[in-house]
Amino acid sequence: MAILQSTMDKISSKKLTTLIILFFIAFPLALTANLMFRTSTFALFELFSQNKVAMKNASLPTSTNDPTSSSIRDKKTKPIGGLLASGFDESSCISRLQSHLYRKPSPHKPSPYLIYKLRNYEELHTRCGPNTRDYRRSMIKIVNSENNGNAAMCKYLVCVPVNGLGNQMISIAATFLYAVLTDRVLLVRFGEDKYRLFCEPFLNSTWILPKSFPFWNYKLVETYESMLKKEKGKNSKEDLPSTLFLNLQHTKNEPDKFFHCDHSQDLLRNVPLLILKSDQYFVPSLFMNPSFNSEITKMFLERDTVFYHLGGYLFQPSNEAWGLISKFYQEHLSKADERIGLQIRVFAPDSTPQQAVMDLVLRCTIKNKLLPELDTQNSMPYRMKNKSIKVVLVTSLKAEYGENLRNMYENKATVTGEVIRVYQASHEEHQKHHDKMHNMKAWMEMYLLSLCDVLVTTSVSTFGYVAQSLGGLRPWLLYKLTNNDTHFPACERDFSLEPCYHIPPNHYCNGNLIKDFVSTFLYLRGCKDFSNGVKLVNDTTTILDHGP
Ligand code: GDP
Repeated sequence: MAILQSTMDKISSKKLTTLIILFFIAFPLALTANLMFRTSTFALFELFSQNKVAMKNASLPTSTNDPTSSSIRDKKTKPIGGLLASGFDESSCISRLQSHLYRKPSPHKPSPYLIYKLRNYEELHTRCGPNTRDYRRSMIKIVNSENNGNAAMCKYLVCVPVNGLGNQMISIAATFLYAVLTDRVLLVRFGEDKYRLFCEPFLNSTWILPKSFPFWNYKLVETYESMLKKEKGKNSKEDLPSTLFLNLQHTKNEPDKFFHCDHSQDLLRNVPLLILKSDQYFVPSLFMNPSFNSEITKMFLERDTVFYHLGGYLFQPSNEAWGLISKFYQEHLSKADERIGLQIRVFAPDSTPQQAVMDLVLRCTIKNKLLPELDTQNSMPYRMKNKSIKVVLVTSLKAEYGENLRNMYENKATVTGEVIRVYQASHEEHQKHHDKMHNMKAWMEMYLLSLCDVLVTTSVSTFGYVAQSLGGLRPWLLYKLTNNDTHFPACERDFSLEPCYHIPPNHYCNGNLIKDFVSTFLYLRGCKDFSNGVKLVNDTTTILDHGP
């Protein structure tokens, strides 16, 4: 302290003034330079974080029981082509580091623009997410303001996902894209039964809507429909509420919401807190909006990889889920030469005979050479040596489908000489609600399906959509059985990786009926499995089979 005192005494007051002036000139200059560097050189930033992840990968455990252990050391690359941010605590989310080792190298790379948008979004989330000063300030403004809520510092998009887990995941992904496109912070109103399924996607923050959120009971919030009515009465933008509830859930015979239109988006833009309830993958309706369309087009150079990238980014299995997934994979799937995922979802079990479903599955898989016929001429049990092994992963609420297929192939010769092994991870009998372990099993099975080489899924099932899109696969879509009709192909190959949007808008923004999506929206096609639905397609030469 004495030395410090004597040094201070030596500095004359003139020198001090010069130092202070210098500091005030140099500091803003340094700050501006730093900001310019950060916004204009995301490629460099990416390279830097790539190195960091490579260093982290080097410290991964390499157990000899782990089928991926030898490849871990060889693949010290950044997981998912730089899609995921670096800086996370490794042990908090093991799948973030390991999951790409369970997949073949991806032909679908994220665009630099998508990575840039995600890094920007992460900054916004860190600044405005729960437990931050800006969150508290913004919420106070939103709660207190009737008309001038749009002056709040941060804007929010609260996602209320409903229905089964597949429905919820596709609607969360669509809502996240909407948040990125509109510079809003995404918060998900997860039920407690969903808390432990996924890792936190955003560094040093959470995407879980806090229980203290002032509009947890969103049923009291003004609706989008009533706002549109007011707007028809030519109310000014100042009359807009600070919070609005927008219902994009699947409902029959509802009038069009014109959500895809500029006039709706212009109004919504001025509402700081949007609460969006959905069970749908409404990405195609964002694509139908001209300004969103140009952004989406830059973000996703391959149009049908929206869920593939955003789902891969958002839905990393939690450590608990990853433990189940990796254990099942290593025990049953890792040693196969080929993995066939077979998702059997029976929507009306009481009126759909099991045998009819089984016949459909066999007609599809055998006709398309996904599974071999039995060799009835040769009753000799196959010899294991040098035979190629196909593993079928059956997912279904019923045990019988897996059992039937297993009994059919067990110890039997096949015409191709292949050995067929059949596994089913669970049979929950029926869909359960608010059940943590039930959801965990559903998530584990969707993820395992996505790790397969070939996928057979059930038409219209969002459970299958998640598996398909996460895995970057074009599945064989099993025909949806409705009666005893047999004049249909048992399954058809999908033309896109994307989930189907089941309830696209019926009208153009001028009120005219949309008769043909393709002529206006080059990258939209009618879904193969649901005639009213549309989905994004990468190849514009894809023929429109069905569709509105
Ligand atoms: P969708 O109804 O087929 O569109 O799919 P959802 O995932 O939205 O809802 C179905 C729900 O039923 C799942 O989330 C699971 O809770 C349950 N379920 C349906 N099929 C299976 C299955 O094969 N395995 C497991 N574990 N659960 C299933």
